Amino acid sequence: LIVLDAGHGGLDPGARATTGEYEKDIVLAFSEQLREALLASGRYRIQMTRDRDVFVPLDERVRRARAASADLFVSIHADSISRPSIAGATIYTGSERATDGESADLAARENAADAAGGLAGGGERNVVTDILQDLTLRETRKLTNRFATQLHGGLKRSIRFSAQPLREAAFRVLRAPDIPSVLVELGYLSNHRDAGLLTSEDWRRRTSNAMANAIDRFFAARVAGRSAAPVSP
Ligand SMILES: [Zn+2]
Repeated sequence: LIVLDAGHGGLDPGARATTGEYEKDIVLAFSEQLREALLASGRYRIQMTRDRDVFVPLDERVRRARAASADLFVSIHADSISRPSIAGATIYTGSERATDGESADLAARENAADAAGGLAGGGERNVVTDILQDLTLRETRKLTNRFATQLHGGLKRSIRFSAQPLREAAFRVLRAPDIPSVLVELGYLSNHRDAGLLTSEDWRRRTSNAMANAIDRFFAARVAGRSAAPVSP
């Protein structure tokens, strides 16, 4: 079971593209296309955290994925920055420490989505003290990092990545301790070329197919690994 998380929605439009579209619509269209590509393989069940233009709180997205015992959580976003020349996709994994200042700023912006929907901040993470949970978290992080690397490898031929394509930051939606989770920023809506690509049907189809193939390889390796050796670093 894969949970696809189209960022933002409803009162929270996300970033605005140079072409005028909103992030919430662009990422929903992409997530729907990705769902189709994954369903076509016949190997997955897909759950969307939203399949229309509604506001869903960040912690609720994670809660739903955990309640459904998802095997993978993929959050889809598109970035925006004050320098219009900056372009390319980035794959984020969750961490309390951000790779760099830009990643920290981005996570803070994305985490503020709940405020746009009229919710107070907070949702403080519970400190994981239980040893079993700690082991689960470590195993999950290993799988998450492996998936992020495979996703980057599978996508780099079809899409343009940012200068630092794999980064970490403290995203609220990447806090499930038991589900491998990544957040993909498809590109920069503040960059005219990226905005053009992200709103193009052809790009959306090619990229979602490449992403579905990478997801397929991730699960194929896990199934093969389960019958052989335990997960290694
Ligand atoms: Zn976003």
